[in-house]
Amino acid sequence: MIPNLSRDLKADLVKRGFSRRNLVRMTTLLGAGAALPFYNEPALAQLSNIGRLSPGAVKINANENPLGPCPEAAEAMHSVISKGGRYLYEETGDFAKTLATQEGVKPNYVLPFPGSSDPLHRAVLAFTSPDKPFVMGDPGYEAGQRAANFIGSKAIRVPLTKTFAHDVKAMVAASPNAGLIYICNPNNPTGTITPKEDIAWLIANKPAGSVVLLDEAYIHLSNEAFGSDFVAQDKDVIILRTFSKLYGMAGLRAGAAIGRPDLLAKITSYGAGALPVTGMIGANASLKVKNLVAERRKIIGDIREDCFSWMTSKNYTFVPSVSNCFMIDVKRPGMEVLKAMAAKNVYIGRVWPAWPTHVRVTVGTKEEMAKFKTAFAEVMA
Ligand code: PLP
Repeated sequence: MIPNLSRDLKADLVKRGFSRRNLVRMTTLLGAGAALPFYNEPALAQLSNIGRLSPGAVKINANENPLGPCPEAAEAMHSVISKGGRYLYEETGDFAKTLATQEGVKPNYVLPFPGSSDPLHRAVLAFTSPDKPFVMGDPGYEAGQRAANFIGSKAIRVPLTKTFAHDVKAMVAASPNAGLIYICNPNNPTGTITPKEDIAWLIANKPAGSVVLLDEAYIHLSNEAFGSDFVAQDKDVIILRTFSKLYGMAGLRAGAAIGRPDLLAKITSYGAGALPVTGMIGANASLKVKNLVAERRKIIGDIREDCFSWMTSKNYTFVPSVSNCFMIDVKRPGMEVLKAMAAKNVYIGRVWPAWPTHVRVTVGTKEEMAKFKTAFAEVMA
């Protein structure tokens, strides 16, 4: 039996070339939802060892925000807990309205989710198939690629340019049948920008019928403009928003897909449900805090730039990032350095197959980065 997928949906999936086995795997993917153990950032971060760490451990491996939720969000979440016996759908509606206003799109262009992993997976299910590949940058955030492979769709990885942007021309050339073209801006793991004019070119020149999935998980940390105007212009674009990064709510779960209602309808056909009211009310409260984005961008940016100055003074090679993570070329197998750092109780992020001598480091607090510097200098000595 294949639960969750309606008969019409199953028929459509078979028409799109999915086998019965693929369908069962899709159900697995959806059934596990946002907590899917294989494809989310915490699971991917296990490559650099997580779990319950010992006291004093420095955890800079999963692009989390050590600042946590802002006080206004924390207060809103505290105050809603005693009312949590009700579904409180209106809180989700209020969050969607606030977000739509800030993004300059109509309210029905915003679909809230508990984070952005869920809509990312759903977009892979909705727009890729055995003959409609998923196209992404390399190195890039792996969740979409893994979901595509899991359900029997092909993933095509296109190397980043010399300036670490997505190579939009090569991505368009990669497949005339592309189903979903994934742009992560700023990119995870490099923390680098793909210029907005390149994204505009991609949208104008992509294969007919394909959809651009613009993952802006880290956009608030950069000075780049959002891509919401592409959505307001009714382009074939879905934007992923998350409250897991700058807003510090990774464990609390809030996010949204922003796109034309007909595109959003395709991802909702794979099911949806009530959302955690804590995440929704916290996200709504966060959006209403004036200057929060600018303040946090500065706090994290200052710590990142301090670390870059230190690395430059030590002649380490790194990719200049504008985000809360960066890649260092350790000039030897990255896994060795990762393990040596873990032995010093400093947990840095994983290694990407395309760049085996690079490790990804998340920007932590000042104190955490001081410990990182000490451990890293010892490991590299
Ligand atoms: N997209 C990118 C680029 C990420 O790095 C992550 C997590 O690290 C996600 C999406 C998913 O995050 P969440 O489900 O917490 O929104």
